[in-house]
Amino acid sequence: AASEGRAATGARVEFRSLRRAFGPTVALDGLDLTAEPGELLALLGPSGCGKTTALRVLAGFEQPDSGEVLVDGEDITPVPANRRDAGMVFQSYSLFPHLNARDNVAFGPRMRGVSTAERHATAGELLELVGLPDHGSRFPHQMSGGQQQRVALARALALRPRVLLLDEPLSALDAKVRLTLREEIRRLQLSLGITTIFVTHDQEEALSMADRVAVLNAGRLEQCAPPAELYERPATPFVAEFVGTMNRLPGRLPGDGSVRVAGASLPVDGDIPAGRGAVDVLIRPESIGVTADPEGSATVVSASFLGSVTRVLLDLPDGVAAKADLPSRDATELAPGVRVRVTPVRRPVLVVPVRETAAAPEAAAPG
Ligand code: ATP
Repeated sequence: AASEGRAATGARVEFRSLRRAFGPTVALDGLDLTAEPGELLALLGPSGCGKTTALRVLAGFEQPDSGEVLVDGEDITPVPANRRDAGMVFQSYSLFPHLNARDNVAFGPRMRGVSTAERHATAGELLELVGLPDHGSRFPHQMSGGQQQRVALARALALRPRVLLLDEPLSALDAKVRLTLREEIRRLQLSLGITTIFVTHDQEEALSMADRVAVLNAGRLEQCAPPAELYERPATPFVAEFVGTMNRLPGRLPGDGSVRVAGASLPVDGDIPAGRGAVDVLIRPESIGVTADPEGSATVVSASFLGSVTRVLLDLPDGVAAKADLPSRDATELAPGVRVRVTPVRRPVLVVPVRETAAAPEAAAPG
């Protein structure tokens, strides 16, 4: 596999039934997940859901209690970390402080016995690739956080890995640098075609960069899907509420195929629970239309201008509170106390029976 350029075809990475506990804490609880060759897969989830542990198991820094990791079909679980073909970038401060940028990037090749001339050439090329062609002799403390992360990225790529692992690489950077680096990492990743697994707790980051996003919850996969599908067709209430902003409104199934919320009937297609009874209706703020109307049945509680959209808090009949996002140009009349008519402009993303989601099952389990 002595390919000339770095346009490697990415590897397929599979996590199979991975389990890892730290004492009583179960970090991975049977994780099944596949990253397809060349894709950028984001691991998203709340703090403690196992994202970093999954990445560390893949890198070989952590052994699973059971389950395996396959790279291109080969079980690499027994392979030591330094023999795995993975480059890794951490949140911050991972550069060697006593080495300049060039030597940081050339470190891996040096350990592998690559000649000085060759590894300097590689480092120069990679520093150029990450937009720092003139920073080779700078030490980490002479560079900004964003520049250091670019060098870390170049270093991770220096051994031409088959998999790139990024663990919250942008979260220590300020907002503007973060946005620029998001785009640059994505561009680089696409041009190299390298399979990349990106851990983040920032959903906007995950949605904007990834080919697919895997949402983890308590060490397990909730859903893995392209960003738009995750947003529009969340598979579970957890995903629905974790990704984007959501209303969770108390509703009722009258048994005629519709859903009633706050005295109104909502359009739903297909996936509603069978039968009658109490449900929770998960509907996005932008799916709720609001028009000023003195005869309307709802009242504006507050309206917050957020730029292109205005978020309106509403008091609906039956004591139901909801938020609606409107284009700001349509919200100019919506001051607190104004009567409004509320109409669903899009269907809810999920309708779930109340009993299924009432309490965390493990907390409620009798024994
Ligand atoms: P965060 O977003 O906060 O980094 P995460 O999703 O990456 O969270 P992990 O770091 O994988 O979560 O941790 C999963 C769980 O395992 C957490 O409850 C964590 O406290 C625990 N854990 C992880 N590593 C260890 C360890 N070395 N010793 C003990 N507990 C650990």
